[in-house]
Amino acid sequence: MATPKTFSIRTFGCQMNEHDSERLAGLLVADGLVPATSERDADVVVLNTCTIRENADLKLYSALGHLKALKQERPDMQIAVGGCMAQKDRGAIQERANWVDVVFGTHNVNAAPALLRRARSDGSLVEVLDEPDPVSNREMAPALYAVRETPFAAWITIQTGCDNSCAYCIVPSVRGREISRPMDDLIEEATMLANAGVVELTVLGQNVNSYGRDITKRGPLFAALLRALGEVEGIERIRFTSPHPKDLRPETIAAMAETANVCPQLHLPMQHGSNRVLRAMRRGYTIERYLERLAQARAALPDLAVTTDLIVGFPGETEAEFEELLEAVSVAQFDSAFTFIFSPREGTRAALLTNEFIADDVIKERFERLKHVLDRSALKKHAAREGLLEEVLVEGPSRRNAAMLSGRTRQGKLIHFPLVEGVRAGSLVHARVNHGAPYHLIGEIESVVRAPRHKIRIPLLVS
Ligand code: SF4
Repeated sequence: MATPKTFSIRTFGCQMNEHDSERLAGLLVADGLVPATSERDADVVVLNTCTIRENADLKLYSALGHLKALKQERPDMQIAVGGCMAQKDRGAIQERANWVDVVFGTHNVNAAPALLRRARSDGSLVEVLDEPDPVSNREMAPALYAVRETPFAAWITIQTGCDNSCAYCIVPSVRGREISRPMDDLIEEATMLANAGVVELTVLGQNVNSYGRDITKRGPLFAALLRALGEVEGIERIRFTSPHPKDLRPETIAAMAETANVCPQLHLPMQHGSNRVLRAMRRGYTIERYLERLAQARAALPDLAVTTDLIVGFPGETEAEFEELLEAVSVAQFDSAFTFIFSPREGTRAALLTNEFIADDVIKERFERLKHVLDRSALKKHAAREGLLEEVLVEGPSRRNAAMLSGRTRQGKLIHFPLVEGVRAGSLVHARVNHGAPYHLIGEIESVVRAPRHKIRIPLLVS
């Protein structure tokens, strides 16, 4: 029997891309390939690209430069480029790097194995769809076949694309309009995952709380989906990302509060605190509206942890408007935040505002001031957990200290604690917090709730 070809996937960007890479790995395994021990030794290397940040191009072409040398050593090796950069640049990637064999887009990830086979006989190929192909998308291998890093936790994509048009964001033009997957498919997938030992589900979408808006005229179905996922036996924790503040509806907040296994964690991207800047960003809400929704969520879920995304240096941002951002952040009191320096992305409205770009040194100084305010509220939120008993899903050995284990609380906070005999990745424990640092907790295990549930799964080879 011929030795199976090996593959390696390098992922750039967000969780959507990471999950696409997991699913692509599952498709390649189902096509008879096996994961390589390293990219250097792989017969097939796939780069799953991101296009959000300006230096995304640089990252891609420097990676392709390194792979060129490998390919000169092993001409049989195949290189494929997928993801958002491939969706945007298509054939231009092969013009710049003619040693790339296959270019596929965000709407036809499932075509990659067949394209790689065809390219072996027909030569290099570019196949990027403008719209997802509903048939093949529906038939796409469910997440179960995904080759996942963590056997007890899984991502489930409920929707692709985004109908919003934030001025700095390229996603709508590379991921297309919002397309929600049928709820039955999602419940079936969640059930299959639970049967395989998955206990934590993270629901993925660009704008999850508008889920279903394209399926029914009755408005979004996200609240109903959360409740339905809450019924799936074996699923102990449900998280979701990213909701849009303008679509955070009372019924979603009620579903979060009334569905026991929905974790008390909300990632709600605020982006800025000035209404003039929010309008220029085309975010579709005012800061007052944002803070009002946040207060409603906290009233319904008193132990809610809230994280956010913030952009500093959006074109035209004045000192006074930046002060409004600092003010809003100190009112919101976030548990943590992803902070970004504005970076113009070709193809977005904001990239055209060149005469309003802010000087780098000004942005850097503002970024440090913002970080200072965020660190203060993060420390307060973490210190407030001291003395509490947290339910923790163990993720495995701490990356920093081999004598410690790490895991996540229901709020999603990272916690480290000393090793305990028999406790390992996938175990559920109760740990007492004895120290709150700005971005993690330290604790001691007090009791073991249950042992891991996940089973090791070997995907079937399709001849
Ligand atoms: S909501 Fe805005 S920032 Fe988020 S993916 Fe859609 S367009 Fe981009």
